[in-house]
Amino acid sequence: MVSQLYDLKAMLPGELDQLVGELDEPAYRTRQILDWLYAKGVRDVREMTNISKTLREKLAERTRITCLNLVKRQESATGEAVKFLFELPSGQRIEAVLIVDGTRRTACLSSQVGCPLDCKFCATGRMGMIANLEAGQIVDQLLQVNQFARERDERVTNVVMMGMGEPLLNYSAVMRALKLMRLKEGIGLGGRKVTVSTAGYIPGIRRLMAEDLNVGLAISLNATTDEMREQLMPINRKYKIADLLAVAREFFACRGYGVTFEYVLMAGLTDADADAQRLAELTRDIPCKINLIPYNETTDLRFRRPARQRLAQFYQVLRGCGVEFTVRHSRGRDIDAACGQLYHQQKK
Ligand code: SAH
Repeated sequence: MVSQLYDLKAMLPGELDQLVGELDEPAYRTRQILDWLYAKGVRDVREMTNISKTLREKLAERTRITCLNLVKRQESATGEAVKFLFELPSGQRIEAVLIVDGTRRTACLSSQVGCPLDCKFCATGRMGMIANLEAGQIVDQLLQVNQFARERDERVTNVVMMGMGEPLLNYSAVMRALKLMRLKEGIGLGGRKVTVSTAGYIPGIRRLMAEDLNVGLAISLNATTDEMREQLMPINRKYKIADLLAVAREFFACRGYGVTFEYVLMAGLTDADADAQRLAELTRDIPCKINLIPYNETTDLRFRRPARQRLAQFYQVLRGCGVEFTVRHSRGRDIDAACGQLYHQQKK
């Protein structure tokens, strides 16, 4: 029987402790291993030079270290976004983005190769579902983006699970990755520095809510009637707008902070004055934030960014209804790194 190799990059400290114990090594080895993985970014246990050679050999027999192959890195002309294209051992490709905003450095990470949810306006949706990422592959995106930031004397300050895929449909790997991101010995991104974004998979939201993990939650609302939402997001056949509003209330009751509703503005589809009014009504009594995202155009010309004036008018109506909101100035459109533009032709 071939014994399975543990991915060191996906092991929680408790699990490492256990492994170190099984190998008859002192407990402080865990800390040393974490330091090599996170602070020093080694790719091979043989590089862990303050650890005895015998332990390194024992570790090499039992473990591996996930390292995504960086195929390409592109910087936007404005310097506000850097896109990383990675290749998995299977040859499949995924993307992550470093977003620069004031002093914030946000890593936007992928959770799946492609996505099963088929949102009509999203480039990743058009890829279909190809594979779930492993926890180590999610963490490694962050480590590599952070490594790049460190070379510029910066560091990643925030994470958004808003790259390719639906994070709540790859729940256990995403959850493990979120726990690993928080480690003080590692990148140390605690609490709400990390946000999970979902197209509205309610069983996943409930499960996340019950975790002892203070991550932020964003729900992609994107329409104000079930009729329109269903056309844009097939998941709405199962989980309706009213259900999402109810779960957003539950989330607040349970966690003590509200969700963020993301709302993509698409010309002629979701950008009417009536939408702004309905958006205000739907969210009126819910403690939440609203984040508007003017559509980033893809190759699918059925979906367009509203004209600047239309956007201004939409904002005006919302303000008139007393709604506070933020507008996401999507960074990296020139390198197709903005929301909904992550797509990669997979090798056949
Ligand atoms: N599956 C998750 C996370 C990935 S998408 C989710 O649906 O939330 C991250 C955000 O980008 C979502 O709010 C989605 O609605 C939005 N989005 C998708 N395509 C877009 C596009 N072309 N322009 C602007 N936003 C887009």
